[in-house]
Amino acid sequence: MRFDELGLSPNLLKGIDKLGFEKPTTIQEKIIPLIFNTANDITGLAQTGTGKTAAFGLPIIEQTDINQKAVQALILSPTRELCIQISKDMQSYAQYVPGLIVLPVYGGASIEEQIRILKKGVHIIVATPGRMLDLIKRKAASIKHIQTLVLDEADEMLNMGFRDELDAILETTPSFKRTLLFSATMPKEVERIAKKYMREPVNITVGRQNSGAENVKHIYYQVHAPDRYLALKRIADMQPDIYSLVFCRTRRETKEIADKLIKDGYNADALHGDLSQSQRDHVMKRFREKSLQMLVATDVAARGIDVQDISHVINYNLPDDPDVYTHRSGRTGRADKSGISIAIVNFREKSKISKIEKILGKSFKKQAIPSGEEICRKQLFRMIDRMEKAEVDEEQIAPFMETVNNKLEWLSKEQIIKHFVSLEFNRFLDYYKNAPDLNKVTEPAKEGNRKKNTKQGRTKHFQADQGQYLRFFMSLGKNDGILPKNIIGMINESTRDRDINIGDIDIKDTHSFFEAGEAYTDKILNGFNKRFKGRRIKVSLADSTSNKRKKRSKKPLNSRV
Ligand code: ADP
Ligand code: MG
Repeated sequence: MRFDELGLSPNLLKGIDKLGFEKPTTIQEKIIPLIFNTANDITGLAQTGTGKTAAFGLPIIEQTDINQKAVQALILSPTRELCIQISKDMQSYAQYVPGLIVLPVYGGASIEEQIRILKKGVHIIVATPGRMLDLIKRKAASIKHIQTLVLDEADEMLNMGFRDELDAILETTPSFKRTLLFSATMPKEVERIAKKYMREPVNITVGRQNSGAENVKHIYYQVHAPDRYLALKRIADMQPDIYSLVFCRTRRETKEIADKLIKDGYNADALHGDLSQSQRDHVMKRFREKSLQMLVATDVAARGIDVQDISHVINYNLPDDPDVYTHRSGRTGRADKSGISIAIVNFREKSKISKIEKILGKSFKKQAIPSGEEICRKQLFRMIDRMEKAEVDEEQIAPFMETVNNKLEWLSKEQIIKHFVSLEFNRFLDYYKNAPDLNKVTEPAKEGNRKKNTKQGRTKHFQADQGQYLRFFMSLGKNDGILPKNIIGMINESTRDRDINIGDIDIKDTHSFFEAGEAYTDKILNGFNKRFKGRRIKVSLADSTSNKRKKRSKKPLNSRV
């Protein structure tokens, strides 16, 4: 099928042509006519990189009445990066459609400025749920007359805890509008939204449900948890031209890994929620320009970001939720290119691999971490290759050659080669001299760091890769009737991981303290149940001195509840 068979007007066709899109992708082919020819609500289930933005964006632009200065379509998406990306995409489709105004609105940017532009009149808003609700409450934006509502990356919006905002926004939309919901996966929560707010939606599924991109190869390396970083470096060193996204579980880890990589001389940087908007834009710009080879990111920060030609997606840690892996690996292998998705796992995480394989319907290949010698060989050949291919400008170099020749006269050809190679290459030789084999992974010792939690009747290992215990403060205590098991339940719920290390739980009259593995800090701070028996709960890190004291103590605090 061709774009001109879809019922798009010449101006849009011209824009599409300018972008170099030759023919519609499968989801575009299915959804665009459905929007033009029916009034149905639609759910679109497709993996990342299948062209969903144009599938909804083109018909929305087509159906916009430019002469009517009112918001006619609202597109909700989970992150500010995505908002910007979607509105830029829409603007480029509409480059030959004069007068169309698309406005991205998101938190972290000046709301006054957004309000000012809204007052002048916009046709299409692309928003994060939080900021949209803010604007509605301030009566700065009216969505009472929208024709179309798009929920893009619906699963992620819900994962990010936008449930209440979505409900509130959806309540204020008119009943005559059409709703389009896009998601890479269809968990229960998304189904709930679809059931509650959509009218007998037509479902369009492209490719296998929940499957990863077709042309992505999946590889895992198994190492001891403390060797993760060394393994990452070897993977990067084995691929001198790597252009990759490295996913970590927490902001803290993201920063730490990026810092280490930078210190070790890699073109790397971090992308996470603690950065300001302009810092994030700056990092993304450098990554897109390929001045960064490795972008270390959290899932939230990198969600949906469309960067061409990523060669490797690296899971520094596997996510708890297999669907998250699908999203991560979907960052590579886009637009028919091939890509590699790598997981670095420890012994314990092997079972996560099997879970992911089931969802992907594809198997992982286990690979050995390259040895120091293999890496040196690879790097050496690359250097020799570059030397061979270097362009020699005879004319420019001629005046210097005599001096150079004289200076090197005392060396034989063989020696010259050795010197030249050593100059560039000693760094690798030194680093990988006596490098250990990282592949010798054995089952963790049965004795040793064992944790017994008698009250709960469970026994489990202290997981060193979760970091030290951190002490958290919680605003409820004995007087509120809270029990250790409630706290454990809330911790498990917020982290969605039953393997989390939980240390001391100390319940006072009006408040409590608990300890949990450092790796889960963000999840606990952001995901903690907000209420207990109707009372609001506040959770924060306990004061830093008590945490420092804990950090210094060597043995893990495995005391029981
Ligand atoms: P999704 O939202 O499904 O993850 P996007 O809409 O971000 O995917 O599109 C992924 C990439 O494919 C983008 O770079 C986009 O420009 C490109 N693309 C979209 N439609 C086409 C098409 N018909 N032909 C070629 N490239 C396309
Ligand atoms: Mg998208």
